[in-house]
Amino acid sequence: MRVAIVGAGWAGLAAALQAARAGHGVTVFEAARTLGGRARAVAAQGPDGSPVTLDNGQHILIGAYGECLALMRSVGVAESPALLRMPLALPYADGTGLRLPDLPPPWDALAGIGRARGWSWRERWALLRTAAAWRLGGFTCPPKATVAQLCAHLPVRLQQEFIDPLCVSALNTPADQSSGTVFLRVLRDSLFSGRGGSHLLLPRVDLGALFPEPAAQWLRAHGHTVQAGLRVTALRPADSAAGADAWHVESAAGSMPFDAVVLATPAPEAARLVRGTAPSAGAGAGATADIATWAGQAEALRHTAIATVYAQYSTAGSAGTPHAALLPEPMLALRATARRPAQFVFDRAWLGGPAGVLAFVVSAFEGDRETLEQQVLEQAASELGLAGLRVLRTVVEKRATFACTPGLQRPPMRIAPGLLACGDYVEGPYPATLEGAVRSGTAAAQSLGAP
Ligand SMILES: Cc1cc2nc3c(=O)[nH]c(=O)nc-3n(C[C@H](O)[C@H](O)[C@H](O)COP(=O)(O)OP(=O)(O)OC[C@H]3O[C@@H](n4cnc5c(N)ncnc54)[C@H](O)[C@@H]3O)c2cc1C
Repeated sequence: MRVAIVGAGWAGLAAALQAARAGHGVTVFEAARTLGGRARAVAAQGPDGSPVTLDNGQHILIGAYGECLALMRSVGVAESPALLRMPLALPYADGTGLRLPDLPPPWDALAGIGRARGWSWRERWALLRTAAAWRLGGFTCPPKATVAQLCAHLPVRLQQEFIDPLCVSALNTPADQSSGTVFLRVLRDSLFSGRGGSHLLLPRVDLGALFPEPAAQWLRAHGHTVQAGLRVTALRPADSAAGADAWHVESAAGSMPFDAVVLATPAPEAARLVRGTAPSAGAGAGATADIATWAGQAEALRHTAIATVYAQYSTAGSAGTPHAALLPEPMLALRATARRPAQFVFDRAWLGGPAGVLAFVVSAFEGDRETLEQQVLEQAASELGLAGLRVLRTVVEKRATFACTPGLQRPPMRIAPGLLACGDYVEGPYPATLEGAVRSGTAAAQSLGAP
């Protein structure tokens, strides 16, 4: 089959690799010049004007991201040195917080909670009891429950210093709006998928080099096409003589026929393209209604932002002097409040550089850039004792992820005959993550041609 993949984010590239390996001829259309979508490299300038490569946002993978890791390996990216693997830890700058030892589950969680610094025995016991109850209950809860409701009985400190940062970083949605079901599923898969499943994997190369660029190279080397900088403007069903499920893909390069199309764009763009097919679908009222339902579900998703403030350290009087590691470890949790918005900080010196640069992550971000930058610099000074920072670059991804709320209806993979969707927002058990995206891409390509 001739298969068009629209969008070269992680989902689209996963779909392209799977389709290519199944023997189909693949053409990937990507509107942007850079591959990777919401997990991509960003070219920036250092304080002295020299070029530096940053990311559109600090990403974390975990050991349980089996599909991501397998796909990376399959295009020649070895986990080490590309990723820094470390046991799950949420340490604060003052040395308190959770650190799991490198043991098989459940001993890692038991020992980590039992030894967590700064928590009282009552708090540790409450978390252990809750974790045991979740496990006994099969990590399920009523579909309408929020994470805040699920954890309401926990001591306030545990909610603020453990549940809230974990929830907002995993689901990019505040705990009082987040789906308890999805949160428990993430906990189950990370904590109980086997030894190392909960490990944090921090990229030591830029996000483009981690998967999108090697994936595109693999596709091109195997005779497929990856076309960056070419936006798909419309999809049109081919007339029946060309085959019942055939589609035309329209772009500035003209109209090209395909046997199947996998839409791997973000939800709003997928809805726009899908709606555009309805008037000419010619497949009867039923198909048009299905298309309208699918587009309606995709349009109904609410999105939340993530902001990343990259800050450069310079000593007073010698602006721009880069330092080696500024933090004692690659990543620290921060005590976020409305006026101290960052939940985590990463030291790029531990992560392939550039040295002297910290990435402050603000999940579920609301507000304006100027206030954000000011507040993050103040937070760095008060919480990390780093007073000489200045902003290198701030990236605000307004539609970073869909808001992962309870009982959310996500659009399914199948849209119409020969037309499939994949992406982090498509029906599935995970919040918007790289693993959710690549699993969705692989699943869409596997079902090509299936009834
Ligand atoms: C700042 C930030 C931090 C994050 N942190 C994490 C993290 O730590 N861990 C984690 O697992 N996940 C994280 N995520 C989520 C993760 O990045 C996404 O879930 C994932 O990248 C989504 O991939 P996708 O392929 O589904 O969609 P996208 O990456 O959005 O890909 C869609 C692609 O389609 C292209 N496109 C759109 N319209 C067209 C068109 N008409 N024609 C052709 N191409 C088109 C776009 O340019 C884009 O490249 C984070 C996201 C952000 C933004």
